[in-house]
Amino acid sequence: MAGEAQVDCVFCKIVAGEIPSTKVRETEHTLAFRDINPQMPTHVLVVPKAHYPNAAALAEADPRLAGAVLAEAGRVAEEEKVVDSGYRLIFNTGAGAGQTVFHAHVHVLGGGNGELHEK
Ligand code: 5GP
Ligand code: ZN
Repeated sequence: MAGEAQVDCVFCKIVAGEIPSTKVRETEHTLAFRDINPQMPTHVLVVPKAHYPNAAALAEADPRLAGAVLAEAGRVAEEEKVVDSGYRLIFNTGAGAGQTVFHAHVHVLGGGNGELHEK
C-alpha cells in the first residue's frame, strides 16, 4: 500500500538504516543522502521516508509531503552552496526515463561545469 515500507526497496532500506548512506539532512518525514554514483560534484537524493513509487504518486497521495521534499531539496542546495551557480532538480519517472529505484526521490545536482557525467 502507498506509504508503507516495501521489503525490496533500496531506499526504504536506507531510511530504515539497513543499508548505509551518507546523510546530508534529515527531518521527521524526509531524508537527504549522497548518491552512490554521483553525476555532478553535488549529487544528493531527497526522499520521503514513506514509500511512494514516484514523485507524481507522492504528490497525489500527500501533497504536503511532496512540498516538504522540495523544500528540503532547496535547503540541500543552499548547504551545498550551489544556489548561485545554479542546480537541477530531476525526478526520473518510469524505466523509460531512467528511473531505477521506484521510491520517490528528487536528484539535487549542481557544481562543476553544469554537465551531467555519463552513467
Ligand atoms: P533514478 O535513476 O531511479 O532516478 O535514481 C536512482 C539513483 O539512486 C541513482 O542515481 C543511483 O546511483 C542511486 N542509488 C542506487 N542505489 C543506491 C544506494 O544503495 N545508495 C545510494 N546512496 N544511492 C543509490
Ligand atoms: Zn521504498
